[in-house]
Amino acid sequence: MTNRPTNPLDLLEIDALLSDEERMTRDTVRDWVRSRVLPEIGEWFERGEIPSEQLAKELGALGLLGMHLEGYGTAGASSVMYGLACVELEAGDSGVRSLVSVQGSLAMFPIWRFGSEAQKDEWLPRMATGEAIGCFGLTEPDFGSDPSGMRTAARRDGDDWVLSGTKMWITNGGVADIAVVWARTDDGIRGFLVPKGTPGFSTNPIEKKISLRASVTSELVLDDVRLPADAVLPGVTGMKGPLSCLSEARYGISWGAIGAARACFEAALDYSKTRIQFGKPIGSFQLTQRKLVDMAVELNKGLLVALHLGRMKDEGRITPDQVSFGKLNNVREALKICREARSILGANGITLEYPVVRHMNNLESVITYEGTNEIHTLILGKALTGLDAFQ
Ligand SMILES: Cc1cc2nc3c(=O)[nH]c(=O)nc-3n(C[C@H](O)[C@H](O)[C@H](O)COP(=O)(O)OP(=O)(O)OC[C@H]3O[C@@H](n4cnc5c(N)ncnc54)[C@H](O)[C@@H]3O)c2cc1C
Repeated sequence: MTNRPTNPLDLLEIDALLSDEERMTRDTVRDWVRSRVLPEIGEWFERGEIPSEQLAKELGALGLLGMHLEGYGTAGASSVMYGLACVELEAGDSGVRSLVSVQGSLAMFPIWRFGSEAQKDEWLPRMATGEAIGCFGLTEPDFGSDPSGMRTAARRDGDDWVLSGTKMWITNGGVADIAVVWARTDDGIRGFLVPKGTPGFSTNPIEKKISLRASVTSELVLDDVRLPADAVLPGVTGMKGPLSCLSEARYGISWGAIGAARACFEAALDYSKTRIQFGKPIGSFQLTQRKLVDMAVELNKGLLVALHLGRMKDEGRITPDQVSFGKLNNVREALKICREARSILGANGITLEYPVVRHMNNLESVITYEGTNEIHTLILGKALTGLDAFQ
């Protein structure tokens, strides 16, 4: 046993478990977020805007788009490095991390994994640089947690495909150059590449969000959209196509949520030392200390879970159930941390002068998308019991 001063921001010294290269990636992203995102994010959130196209190019230049893929202009980074990047991006804002997750894990990944060489050559290099933005259309107005019931359909007409249907809640939808749209065919669910501007394809913004305001969320409308035969992703049929993309994105979220929680914890810790009530800093009250300690404990545990999952993913042995563990625990605990932080800030906790309420509101989306808390509970319930409780 040795005695060293405790680092309140790294109680368990998890930093020591990272390689120099991993720390360097993290620090690069952290610096970019500090200089590029933090000064403006409050305004973007308030206005309900984000300069997606511009940010995508900057993120591309940093090598962060599809960074865990290989070839086609991607960085070929490890899963742990991708995760560390997600933490830093989400410490800025969940909207910025969503832009990157959707681009890399939901739009580039299916092309990389299931696309033809021609599709990969056409899209991946431009997506890696951020010249082209992608989105992922799975959810529909009547099919969220149960996407297998989707109504969007693709029928053959000669060699062509004709797509009809509506997709809802699609991140990056309105700014996407290419939409990966999942549709029912006679053979099962298939993925289609739908370029922006294809006749019959339009998008509508989803307004009045009070969560993920610095993120473009759209409806996709496909009205007899005619696509050539080679618009289909040839490498997959069935729900395993979209589900494998979701596993990729959920993995990144397990890390990212920790970033939002860390930002809130840091804000609350600082505030607790400077805010004086009853003649003392509020951090000197036992009730406040309990909140801070609970937050720090969950934060460190969550980061360890993410790192463990990342190491397993890099060894090629992570399972979808284990990804659900990470998404379920880390988003749930991150949201609790943000709510506790908000209470420590009192009235200041509800303004955009501090990052806390923004992160807290964002995590209400994060706990819903990519499989709700309940759906991940049922996935793990089935893994434990062998019994399916979905229906
Ligand atoms: C900001 C934002 C961005 C998004 N981005 C995308 C995107 O880019 N692409 C995309 O395809 N989708 C996207 N989504 C959609 C998201 O994946 C869905 O919202 C999510 O799957 C839940 O579906 P739903 O909202 O229809 O809720 P529902 O499925 O209607 O669920 C409502 C409630 O019922 C619960 N529930 C449902 N079934 C069960 C069950 N069997 N047992 C117990 N409880 C159950 C749910 O957990 C939830 O609490 C996004 C959503 C948001 C909010």
